[in-house]
Amino acid sequence: MPIEFSLTADQEAFRDAARTFLAKEVAPIVPEMDEKEEFPRASVKRMQEEGYFGIPVPEEYGGLGLGKVGYCLFLEELGRVDASHGTIVGAHTSLGTTPLLSYGTEDQKKRWLAPSARGEKLLAFSLTEPGSGSDSGAVHTVAEKSGDGWTITGNKIYVSNGREADTVVLMAANDVKLGPNGGVTAFLVDTNQQGFAVGRCEKKMGLHGTSTAELILDHVEVGPDRVLGEVGKGFHVAMTALDVGRVSLGAASLGGMQAATEQALEFSKNRTQFGLPISEYEAIQFKLADMAMKISALRYLVYHAAAHQDRMGADPKGWSRLERVEKTREAATVKCLGSEWASEVIDEALQIHGGLGYIRGTPIERAYRDARISEIFEGTNEIQRLVVARDLLSRGL
Ligand SMILES: Cc1cc2nc3c(=O)[nH]c(=O)nc-3n(C[C@H](O)[C@H](O)[C@H](O)COP(=O)(O)OP(=O)(O)OC[C@H]3O[C@@H](n4cnc5c(N)ncnc54)[C@H](O)[C@@H]3O)c2cc1C
Repeated sequence: MPIEFSLTADQEAFRDAARTFLAKEVAPIVPEMDEKEEFPRASVKRMQEEGYFGIPVPEEYGGLGLGKVGYCLFLEELGRVDASHGTIVGAHTSLGTTPLLSYGTEDQKKRWLAPSARGEKLLAFSLTEPGSGSDSGAVHTVAEKSGDGWTITGNKIYVSNGREADTVVLMAANDVKLGPNGGVTAFLVDTNQQGFAVGRCEKKMGLHGTSTAELILDHVEVGPDRVLGEVGKGFHVAMTALDVGRVSLGAASLGGMQAATEQALEFSKNRTQFGLPISEYEAIQFKLADMAMKISALRYLVYHAAAHQDRMGADPKGWSRLERVEKTREAATVKCLGSEWASEVIDEALQIHGGLGYIRGTPIERAYRDARISEIFEGTNEIQRLVVARDLLSRGL
């Protein structure tokens, strides 16, 4: 059986069109966005108009229908240009549209998925709380039954797109004592609902174009039509979203690594010291070689995992137990290695730039600040290692 890793002509055409679009519409605004720490509304709107906020969503629900492979191709291209835009698209698509597609009713798909995929609504995903980070099943935002609906009260933190979103896929506890095993439910909360407020927005080391917001829920009333998936099964909903998010984060890391390596390669050929371009020195060549090797290896991991998710389809009812655990382990592997290799590659690229790499406003300096979070969000890399180790101990290699 041959192992086939090539892209179709349509996938290549999509990637090339995305590259051209991003070079024209996104790249030029990034330095100012980073400096002013502003959400890039105009470029986000242009991306929404092009359908880039619904890439893996089937066409019948307003998306481009290009699957996880198409989505990763786009995030790889976006990662070459800017990590903030990548995070905005990722929070919306991986973490917002995935749970709607996999667990939404037909009515929820019409009301929330289709407008989100068409770019008319922006989504966010809210799991983290002040007391619940890595221990993400320990949700304390409470959903109390009221009539046939629910009243949600509590505080969420660190929500990407939280300040701008129209709707939040939000995890609340239907039973705090049960935790992830029956005690967490996913809700669709519109941000214009009574009792919903955006609190503190964090100042950050990087990702200056994204909001990282606190959400305050003070007796927000939601009907039964806003329960996403089954009551008590919200942790599964969240983990399904994160499996997609972790692979796409690997794709964005891949893009960031490529941009940094291309910049370092170019710089090394043009920077002369001791009478020679620094690219002539073996110490620099070995750095560049190591960077290129990591890029090659990550590309296989990302697209292998994305193609596997495409083959599995979006309906969790069709997934065997083995497929689920393999998918989760692959996603953890891609996320963990991708984010660490991105940090290493970008650090080496900065080193090759010498003092210039440390100067505020250079692309490599921004990339260095932006990359670090990928080792932390969507589950820290310690948690990814726990996921892999648990599966290793139960199933072996
Ligand atoms: C910029 C940004 C954007 C974010 N976006 C979102 C978002 O959109 N939605 C959302 O819900 N959340 C979001 N987060 C939250 C993010 O996912 C969490 O910060 C992350 O999961 C870690 O949780 P924590 O910060 O509470 O750290 P903690 O869980 O307190 O961890 C602290 C340290 O302890 C380690 N640790 C914890 N438990 C163990 C263990 N059992 N074994 C070994 N080590 C352990 C961790 O790995 C880490 O190194 C975002 C965070 C940031 C900074």
